[in-house]
Amino acid sequence: MPVITRFAPSPTGRLHVGNIRTALHNWMLARKAGGRFLLRIDDTDAERSREDYVDAIRADLGWLGLEPDGEERQSHRLEIYERAFVALREAGRVYPCYETQQELELKRKIQLGRGVPPIYDRAALALNDAERAAKEAEGIAPHWRFKLDHGEPIMWDDGIRGAQKFDPAQLSDPVIRRADGSWLYMLPSAIDDLDMGVTDVLRGEDHVSNTAVQIQMFTALIAAHYGAQQIPRFAHEALLVGREGKLSKRLGALGCDAFREQGIEPQALIALLARLGTSLPVEPIADRAVLIESFDLGSFGRAPAKFDDAELARINTTLVHQMDFATVVHRLPQGMDETGWHAIRPNLSHVAEAGEWWRLVTGPIDQPEFSDEDRAYLDEAARTLAWGDDPWHALTAALKDATGRKGKQLFLPLRQALTGMDHGPDMGELLPLIGEDRARARLAEAAGK
Ligand code: GLU
Repeated sequence: MPVITRFAPSPTGRLHVGNIRTALHNWMLARKAGGRFLLRIDDTDAERSREDYVDAIRADLGWLGLEPDGEERQSHRLEIYERAFVALREAGRVYPCYETQQELELKRKIQLGRGVPPIYDRAALALNDAERAAKEAEGIAPHWRFKLDHGEPIMWDDGIRGAQKFDPAQLSDPVIRRADGSWLYMLPSAIDDLDMGVTDVLRGEDHVSNTAVQIQMFTALIAAHYGAQQIPRFAHEALLVGREGKLSKRLGALGCDAFREQGIEPQALIALLARLGTSLPVEPIADRAVLIESFDLGSFGRAPAKFDDAELARINTTLVHQMDFATVVHRLPQGMDETGWHAIRPNLSHVAEAGEWWRLVTGPIDQPEFSDEDRAYLDEAARTLAWGDDPWHALTAALKDATGRKGKQLFLPLRQALTGMDHGPDMGELLPLIGEDRARARLAEAAGK
């Protein structure tokens, strides 16, 4: 069976680094198996879902290069949910409830006060037809719960966590539908996974108990509605935390825009997130094929994965130094050619800094004040400068012989005069880009001529 994975964000906000990681892993899982990666927009919460977030999710996945093979949205599938719901109701697997929020809250408080777990007491299941009719006559529309089967433990072999076992009697029958008819996430998600032939559900470990409940939903849906069909495999990855070890607010707000603004390349983020929290080394790997090839759920650890900005910055710098001219050309300053890019890229931690360094070539530059001695030296340099294949090495070799200067004394005044900076790109590569006329003029200016 071809592998089908899905990334199922709710468009109630921008994607953050945790969601990006889940999307990436689902994409890699599908790519490695030659399968399909679907984007499913979980927009059943009409009040909180926003169209601009849907657009932003698509744009972010595009920027990351995680193009889905198909897109579905839950708000377009309400009739499908309705049919499945009717089948479940007929099979006695969903039931109407009439408690108000306050009543439920009170029950919880009493249970907690008695030291028992706050599991829903199934009071609504005990109502008879007349009692239900009375509630509805009072104008109380029901919300609906899925009835868990307490018959046997819920078990699955989790792709990351191994054997899992839940006692359904320790779980509340989940509310699946609100009194206004709208859906909560759980049932539509299981319906979609069956309908779309999803073979692998890979998501954060905050969904582990949802999986227990959803496994029963899958079974009930297959029995009542879908006939023969497979339940997907499940894997739950440990959550992403900040360096301080907590799921910080900052991480929750850190998304593609922020990374882009910081000059982080998508491939740096991908290289980091592909392996963070696994036993594979995090390395600056730009080639996605390599990352996909090494992707393995078995390498995922159970401890929270620590996201460290400094590590991301280091990977980014290394990858920028390897970037081809063709990949970045549209982001480079006008006039900067391949030779220029190669000269300048080892100095960059972000592509956007190319412009600052390129100004050293095109000018104007700000030269420092030089001592009389250095001025005389630079005057000599201006006169010595000869243009050939390798003007920098020719110039410095000639000046070394003529003046006896060496090391910093030899090089620094030249660099300062030619670029206005104490450090920067390799002068051997930079000087040909500055060109003979500009170089001579800068030396002469520095010499006070
Ligand atoms: N919309 C759900 C969420 O964002 C999807 C979870 C899932 O992958 O099933 O948490």
